[in-house]
Amino acid sequence: MENNFDVIVIGGGPGGYVCAIRAAQLGLKAACIESRGTLGGTCLNVGCIPSKSLLNLSENYENAKKNFNQQGIEISNIKLNIEKMMKTKDKSVQVLTKGIEFLFKKNKVAYLKGKGVIFSKNDVVVYEGDKKTSYKTNNIVIATGSSAVSLPGIEINEKNIVSSTGALSLSQVPKKLIVIGGGYIGLEMGSIWSRLGSEVTVIEYLDSITPGMDKEISKEFEKILTKQGIKFKLDSKVISVKNKSNLVRIEFINNKTSKKEELDADKALVAVGRKPYTEGLNLSKIGIKKDDKGRIKVNSMLQTSIGNIYAIGDVISGPMLAHKAEEEGMAVAEILAGQKGHVNYDVIPGVVYTFPEVASVGKTEEQLKKLNINYKIGKFPFLANSRAKVNNKTDGFVKILADSKTDKVLGVHIIGPHCGDMIGEMAIAMEFGASAEDIARTCHAHPTHAEAIKEAALAVDKRAIHF
Ligand SMILES: Cc1cc2nc3c(=O)[nH]c(=O)nc-3n(C[C@H](O)[C@H](O)[C@H](O)COP(=O)(O)OP(=O)(O)OC[C@H]3O[C@@H](n4cnc5c(N)ncnc54)[C@H](O)[C@@H]3O)c2cc1C
Repeated sequence: MENNFDVIVIGGGPGGYVCAIRAAQLGLKAACIESRGTLGGTCLNVGCIPSKSLLNLSENYENAKKNFNQQGIEISNIKLNIEKMMKTKDKSVQVLTKGIEFLFKKNKVAYLKGKGVIFSKNDVVVYEGDKKTSYKTNNIVIATGSSAVSLPGIEINEKNIVSSTGALSLSQVPKKLIVIGGGYIGLEMGSIWSRLGSEVTVIEYLDSITPGMDKEISKEFEKILTKQGIKFKLDSKVISVKNKSNLVRIEFINNKTSKKEELDADKALVAVGRKPYTEGLNLSKIGIKKDDKGRIKVNSMLQTSIGNIYAIGDVISGPMLAHKAEEEGMAVAEILAGQKGHVNYDVIPGVVYTFPEVASVGKTEEQLKKLNINYKIGKFPFLANSRAKVNNKTDGFVKILADSKTDKVLGVHIIGPHCGDMIGEMAIAMEFGASAEDIARTCHAHPTHAEAIKEAALAVDKRAIHF
């Protein structure tokens, strides 16, 4: 095995593996170190992919159980086989992680298995069991991702007090599940187990779910999830999670009234956020600086405080999202190859994969107000969209925010069926500096959910046709 590289990437998640592949495509001798035993990082192993697999499977189950009969599809004795469902999810993960290994071979990226430690700006050592191998490199990219955090005094045991990783592998459907944290991970997990039969309560510290989301969308989202049977305790601070015979007891205080409440459940999911993971990298010894949240500090070229060491993905600031990590991985590889790698942080979409999905890109109304930017709003409900109507899935709406003077699209926020796929269209539009008029004048296929986007763009100038 070669011991000299142009670039060594530490971490084989979406940031790291994409960076290594792009670097190799550009003619650099690239290696990627991964300690997990499989490539793909949090995203493929315990994040995006297994959660989306279970979201799809649980949606199928719920549809078969609740909706098929009314649609003239008569099936009796619908039974859940959770073991089989988990195996189906595991298979999807396996196929995709193996796929990255294939891509490494195809692009001639060296896959170094083990834990990477940085000894100097040109020296990296990989530890695998008792084996220690030293490598020389011109550049290093830190892509070590993040890990789940808990609350003070609450210990995640992955049995009855679980993180998202535990919640993705439960062997039985909990009768009652408490989700601590109303962010996108908690809500996706809550949706999965609610559809499979759990009684789900979400406890959120703030007065609304999904912090950072456009407030109007977030309110609608909460309403729709409540209609689906998920209960919410907002403005509530969890103070303890304790074992109580076979159950867990969750104590929490209402922030406004100071009233103390407790709830018992079979499982508690702690989904209060994630923190950058830099353990064992030797960062302080070699002089790489972090901010007060433990994120590695980088400049606009994604360089750390040491010029030839870069950092990308969850380990630096910005939204903890796989596609943001990928963009940064591409940018660093291109910078290393002498090109002008760049990430447009203003146009990074975000999606919550519940039903309906919630998707957004650009600024929220709250952000525009804060920035003193005058804007126009165009809205269109899925209730008036023919495709949503024939599918009988009419919850939600499209909201487009455009500059009052120039008509330039500043933000798009959608809650509705398949909007996670539709938001790409809006990201492209914004990347090209589109106006609402540009979108309104673009022919959209009929009957599609995407027509709701065109109608919302027409509504910016108060000329929607179907509403
Ligand atoms: C339940 C859940 C659902 C999610 N769903 C979505 C989603 O739908 N869409 C989305 O965009 N994002 C989603 N995310 C977030 C997404 O997974 C992360 O943003 C993304 O994985 C970050 O990529 P990364 O490359 O920075 O790090 P990671 O994917 O965390 O990869 C880092 C890798 O580095 C390895 N590593 C760490 N230290 C070392 C070392 N010293 N030596 C060798 N290897 C090391 C780790 O083992 C890990 O595999 C989800 C996350 C969770 C937990």
